[in-house]
Amino acid sequence: MDPRQIIYQLGEEFGEEAIPGSPPIHQTSNYLFNSVKGMREALKQENDLPFYTRGTNPTVRLLSKKLAALESMEDALIFGSGSAAISSAVLSFLQAGDHVICTASPYSWTGKLMRNWLARFQVEVDFLNSSEALISSIKNNTKLIYLESPNSWTFEAYDIKMIGQQAREKNIITVLDNSYATPLLQRPAEADIDLVVHSATKYLGGHSDLVAGVVCGSQQLITKIFQEAYMTLGGIISPNDAWLLLRSLRTLPQRLEAIQKSTKDILGFLRDHPAVKKVYYPLAPSHSLKDMSGLFTIDLKTDDEHVVEQFCDHLQVFKLGPSWGSFHSLIFPAITTINSMNYHSEDTVVGRVRISIGLEDSEVLRADLSNALNLLS
Ligand SMILES: *Cc1c(COP(=O)(O)O)cnc(C)c1O
Repeated sequence: MDPRQIIYQLGEEFGEEAIPGSPPIHQTSNYLFNSVKGMREALKQENDLPFYTRGTNPTVRLLSKKLAALESMEDALIFGSGSAAISSAVLSFLQAGDHVICTASPYSWTGKLMRNWLARFQVEVDFLNSSEALISSIKNNTKLIYLESPNSWTFEAYDIKMIGQQAREKNIITVLDNSYATPLLQRPAEADIDLVVHSATKYLGGHSDLVAGVVCGSQQLITKIFQEAYMTLGGIISPNDAWLLLRSLRTLPQRLEAIQKSTKDILGFLRDHPAVKKVYYPLAPSHSLKDMSGLFTIDLKTDDEHVVEQFCDHLQVFKLGPSWGSFHSLIFPAITTINSMNYHSEDTVVGRVRISIGLEDSEVLRADLSNALNLLS
């Protein structure tokens, strides 16, 4: 089905004379029944029918159906953050003695889940930086392969189709973080990937007003996650935030298109700029990624923290802040992680700045960068 048809129509045919133009927010914790029979029926299908909002809520359910369809998967679960989605998906399938393979340099908190949490439960994890190395480190007890392709700072991409096929033959579950590409620019289902996770905080949300996460997969795997981590850890989204996400989705194709156009323009300018040492973005077209989105990283030609600070502070249109994929353009200088409570700073590249392109006019963005880069020459 066409993505726009999914976003605008799927799940919104109620079969009544008049339906609301925007779906209602079911701001309720529970559902009340006229009969024991009705209550019993709802409980039989707690992952699909409204009973208690930690399980199913109609506003959240509408969103999960649309996101599953966008990823061409059978079903989906929505979480209160990308990290809740990732940890719930991973933890639902592992037990002591299992082995996990993970791509090198995943999102920081995914890395902590892999390094710190899984070790506590006697799950061994190997981090590999190439598709071939990943496959050749499969062992008898390998249960799950976790992919972030491309990753969100240096954008290494992996051959997800080859990995998906090899893993499926060996009955190993594959999980892919598709936040960078969105369902519109990378199709993990076509690469035989089992579970797709998203930080919906980024492009799916796109307005810096909510934190959310998604897991998409087959009915069987999603039901397993529902019965395990989803209901036990309870990392759900509120009906109100699910409604905001439904609203955000309606402009995803148009937002992404505008962001891609500006990003190409700005990358062209930065690649040739004498004050920029290196630009990191996924080499297009790499494997299954159809195109780039709007996130990339530059290394400025300086080792002086104060110069990087001056560059960032000088920008007027780009705002300093975490996250990405929003309507406003954002920068995240790596030097801000030095001496922070949660990040290791030994390997921080001083000149490294991550840039997320938003919906502003690309000429305005280019001029803003140009002004700040002039400080370096
Ligand atoms: C932000 C991010 C996450 C975590 O998502 P939250 O919504 O912040 O919990 C996971 N993966 C990637 C690639 C991210 O950028």
